[in-house]
Amino acid sequence: VTGTPKPPTTELNDIFISVKTTKNYHDSRLALIIKTWFQLAKEQTWFFTDTHDSYYQEKTKGHFIKTNCSMGHFRKALCCKMSAELDVFLQSGKKWFCHFDDDNYVNIPRLVRLLEEYNPSQDWYLGKPSIASPLEILLDSKIPTETPSKKITFWFATGGAGFCLSRALTRRMLPIAGDGKFISIGDKIRFPDDVTMGFIIEHLLKVPLTVVDNFHSHLEPMEFIRPETFHDQVSFSYARMKNEWNIIKVDGFDLKKDPKRFYSLHCHLFPYFSFCPPR
Ligand code: UDP
Ligand code: MN
Repeated sequence: VTGTPKPPTTELNDIFISVKTTKNYHDSRLALIIKTWFQLAKEQTWFFTDTHDSYYQEKTKGHFIKTNCSMGHFRKALCCKMSAELDVFLQSGKKWFCHFDDDNYVNIPRLVRLLEEYNPSQDWYLGKPSIASPLEILLDSKIPTETPSKKITFWFATGGAGFCLSRALTRRMLPIAGDGKFISIGDKIRFPDDVTMGFIIEHLLKVPLTVVDNFHSHLEPMEFIRPETFHDQVSFSYARMKNEWNIIKVDGFDLKKDPKRFYSLHCHLFPYFSFCPPR
């Protein structure tokens, strides 16, 4: 019996994992990542930041990439980092590009299993939107490919939940968005980096977003992710919303010791880790 050929097997080493960060978050966010999920993908994970940091450069064995992007949570700086992430990936020769924020926990074995289901030589844009309907934007005539002003709609994967692109797709992106051109596209549409990504992929290249519900950003309530399903989720996050934390509900270390719940989550998934309590 002949069926559809299985895609070539994907392993961890086929994945380029990039994490966007900034000087102020090295201690407060990266330290947590480096002690937990980074340990499962040390060779494959790269941090994109804006400041030299010899302490973390050493801790990650040189996996800290200082971009020339400015600090600050504004569109241009964020698009600049995404552009750098994409360009370094394109140089890497890996089969998959996966972007995450520095407030994500990435469940590495699950990420590998997810990508095993897709063929990297086909066009894949995998992620999760945070809005219920596609984004509608008004393009003006400043964009060369668009003649008069017109309304367009497209989906985009929320950057804060993480998303993955196949090598084949990024190869098609190269002429329009490679070598720093991602930044100019962001400048033209004047939307954040994750929206710019959706614009390039869905609108310009006509490759639809494939929704993967197992990615999670802190735009969703983390407490509703059921512990029985933790092993099946690709990413998690946390955020402080006014006075309350949006965090996953997981047994483990006390809140004082683990306010963001990532140590507890890590021990739930990988109980043999050195810092986990004996079971
Ligand atoms: N970020 C950055 N520069 C900044 C602020 C934030 O590169 O000045 C990065 C940060 O490291 C994270 C992402 O942008 O990976 C999102 O930042 P944050 O979680 O603070 O804000 P959100 O957009 O999720 O509300
Ligand atoms: Mn965030």
